Formats: sequence, structure tokens, C-alpha cells
Amino acid sequence: MRIEQVDLIHVQVPLVEPFRISTASVDVKDAIICRVRSEGIVGIGESSPMSGSFYSADTPESCIDALKKLLIPRLLGREISGPQEFHDVMADVPGNFFAKSGLEMALWDLEARRLETPLYELLGGAGGEIPSGVAIGIYDTLDALLHRVETFLSHGYARVKIKIKPGWDVEPVSEIRRVFGDIPLMVDANAAYSLADARVFQELDEFHLTMFEQPFPGHALDDLATLQSMIETPICLDESAETLESIQRAVSIDAGRIVNIKLQRVGGLGPAVTIHDYCIAHDVPVWCGYMPELGVSTAYGIHLSTLPGFTVPGDIEPSLRWFIDDITDPLIEMSSPGKIAVPDLPGIGFELDAKKVEKYKVWEESFRG
Ligand code: MG
Repeated sequence: MRIEQVDLIHVQVPLVEPFRISTASVDVKDAIICRVRSEGIVGIGESSPMSGSFYSADTPESCIDALKKLLIPRLLGREISGPQEFHDVMADVPGNFFAKSGLEMALWDLEARRLETPLYELLGGAGGEIPSGVAIGIYDTLDALLHRVETFLSHGYARVKIKIKPGWDVEPVSEIRRVFGDIPLMVDANAAYSLADARVFQELDEFHLTMFEQPFPGHALDDLATLQSMIETPICLDESAETLESIQRAVSIDAGRIVNIKLQRVGGLGPAVTIHDYCIAHDVPVWCGYMPELGVSTAYGIHLSTLPGFTVPGDIEPSLRWFIDDITDPLIEMSSPGKIAVPDLPGIGFELDAKKVEKYKVWEESFRG
């Protein structure tokens, strides 16, 4: 396919309520929609950074800069054999995973539409439905948290994850267990602790959670391995799982027994499938993480989650759980309680809603090769 045109559209959609984690809070969702045109077919992707330093160092500004100056010039006018070649073309551009994933996704959509096949078939996955787990942020009071848990359980979510930070950990978990019993429950620290806090995780170990997600900073693999040796609950890697090499090292020293695969963090579907294949060969369950993202990026997570190694419910949730609106047609919605249907249409099976893109657009630029 020859890449003839790339459009970047920066959109901002307000969140239903602020999302607070151990590192920051956010109330507007930024996304850079990447629309790639080749031989009369258009593929769409989403580079989905958060403003500020919410999850990673990637921001809307840094992603737009990388897309305009580093990535699009390497792709425009070039003839490539398919989406797999994207990472060869970008081999001399280190990092910039959030920016890369938006463009790379669009190439997968293009290829699947060209072949008139659903994306999951191209990836080697299955159709049907995927489980939807809910992620719940940090609140000022336990009552506010318990109220959210009750509401989301009534929606049928396949598991509950709460965000924790020092001072907001054992008590909220204990209260959820007391009120809601033995529900599938996990915690995500977003790297807020150190080995000096091991006692917190030893206490949490008593509550039989499905996993502890990223207790320590991403690079602290040795400390994570030490913690894992002290507790029964499996540690799940998120911020530590940026590259296949970091995951291989973590698995080899037992610093993590479950991997959260985030498309944005690893740079797109190609690296995500490679990580999946490594994990399945090493009996490491994986699930699809989410930050949250708008509907385009979420659609890729839905297709990815049909691969056989995705044996644990992920974070993928309906559009309106997080946002007042979304830019895809249709919106991401549950197809049955706690489940989301995988579209059987060509490509990702979702289109951009032109009116909503216009409504939430803050900037747009086109590049032709
Ligand atoms: Mg996480």
C-alpha cells in the first residue's frame, strides 16, 4: 500500500467525572485521531495520551510533535507491504510509543478493510464477546467509592479494579470485601509504593485479590521480585511492561506473573501481539489495559482481547462509563451484562462520527505525499 495522505485531528471530550489515580487527576480526554489514506481506502487510529503527566511522559503536545516531525515524514509517499512493516520504517525513532500506536493502528484498519475482513481475523483472534472489567479511581470518602462499586456491579462488570495510593489501600479493600463479599477484585497502585511499604501488600494479601497491579515504579523489577517472594497474590506488570525485553527480564526473575498489555504504551498492535505470544509461551496470563481511551483506540483493544492469551478480564469499558460522549459510530457499548461484542465488519468495525469529531475538535492538519 502506498501512503498518500495522513490527517491528524486533536479532539477533547470531557469526562463524566474527574479520574483520580495515585499520580494525578484528569477531567478531559485528549486524543489525536490519525486518518491514513491509501488507494481509496481510509484507516483510522488514535494516539491517546493524557494531558499533564497522568500516566506517562507522553502528552498531546509531545505526540503531535512526534507525529508531525518524526513519524509522518517517514511514512508519507512510501510503499509498504502492510502494517507489520511500520515498525521497520520507524526503527530509527526510539520511544514515542503513544504517537506510533495511532499511526500503526490506522494501517491495521486499512489492511483489514482492504482485505474486507474483521481486524481480529487478521490478528489470529476469535469473534464473539469479550469481558469488560471496570476501573475505579480514588475518591475523598469510602462512601463515594462504595457507591461507585455498587453502581458498576449492577451494570454486570466482570471484575472490579480500584486505584490505590499510600493511605488509601487496605481500608477501601477491606470495606469492599465487607460490603460486597467475594467479588473478583484487584488493585492498581500506578507505581506509588516502594519495598519499604511491603507490609501494605502483605496485609492486602489476606483479601484474596486477583492481582496487585504495578506496586512499585516501572524500573524496580528486583524490588518487585522481592515483594512477589513475600506474598501469594500475583503481581501484574503495567508501567514495567513497556517493551518485550523488560517483560522477559521481569518474568525471568518472577517480578510479575500477569501482564497488562496496553496498546498505547507498547506502540501498537504489532508489539502487543509479540508480547502476547511471548507471554502465552511462558504461561503468563495477559489482559488489555486502558487509560481510558476514546472509541477508536478502544476498538483495537476489543479485537486484540480475542487472542487466546487474554484469559483475564481487561479494563475495556463502554464509552459513556468515562466520557459524556464519544467520537465513534456506534459508541462502545455492552452487548450483554459485563460483555462487549467484537464487530464482524471489515476493519475495526467502527467509523468516525463526523459531527462529533467536528464538535470536539481543537486542531486539525493534513499531510499529503
Ligand atoms: Mg495500571
